[in-house]
Amino acid sequence: MKHYEKELPMGYRAAYTVDAASRKVGVWLNVIAAIVMAAIIAAAFLIIRPGSIFKNGSPFAFLALAAGLLAYIVLHELVHGAAYKLLTGRRLTFGLTATVAYCGVPDIYVYRRASLIALLAPFVVFTLLFGGLVMTLANPVNRFFAAIALAVHVGGCAGDLYDTGLYLLRFRDPRTLMRDTGPKQTFYLPE
Ligand SMILES: [Zn+2]
Repeated sequence: MKHYEKELPMGYRAAYTVDAASRKVGVWLNVIAAIVMAAIIAAAFLIIRPGSIFKNGSPFAFLALAAGLLAYIVLHELVHGAAYKLLTGRRLTFGLTATVAYCGVPDIYVYRRASLIALLAPFVVFTLLFGGLVMTLANPVNRFFAAIALAVHVGGCAGDLYDTGLYLLRFRDPRTLMRDTGPKQTFYLPE
């Protein structure tokens, strides 16, 4: 099965654009992400009951959380990049702005199935990783910190999940193509 087109095929038209670098979309995505993060952290606190994290947490746990969150931003984009590279083999682009970190494959038009795989790859990988840590770590503060990482991760996937939602609700035609420049995704449909 073909994963992408080098040029937009005849008869396709741009149907919708998501631009995370635009002020309006960027702010909304971050507001939604912050609400989701706060809800998960609050729920985790009530379920795990870590007590005073300053009294019960080791300096190492704080350091691991801070380093883990910074590494996560890079690793999330690298997982998108790995998926795009495996599926298309084409040139990738990476970047970081004040409101969004991104990875795109700007020179081609990617079919729906491959596009969904690349969009959801980091969501699946890190939900399993952080979810696994929440379930298996023994110390309640460590478990709570893993839940914070899980929350930041799920919130950080707001843009990816929004695109996924568009694919599930609006762009169900397998012929749908997406051009992903990184911060900006454009959906194309045959007429
Ligand atoms: Zn992403």
